Amino acid sequence: MGNGAKAAQKRERNADKNAPKGSKSQSKVNEAAKSIICQVCRQSFLITTRAPALEEHASNKHSKTSAECFPGH
Ligand SMILES: [Zn+2]
Repeated sequence: MGNGAKAAQKRERNADKNAPKGSKSQSKVNEAAKSIICQVCRQSFLITTRAPALEEHASNKHSKTSAECFPGH
């Protein structure tokens, strides 16, 4: 008398709760995307670092352009 359906519903809810979240590998990806690495000295900068600051690092430290130190940025 409807008991079977009720039990199935309960099981479904439990499965939902035990579903893996998978946030660990995702956060690792985000971590990698967070920095800009100088190809010359391997110093890392936050992805939010402004272009002028990268330019300054490149010219002051290496007498290069930021494109040479940070290709793709
Ligand atoms: Zn550098």
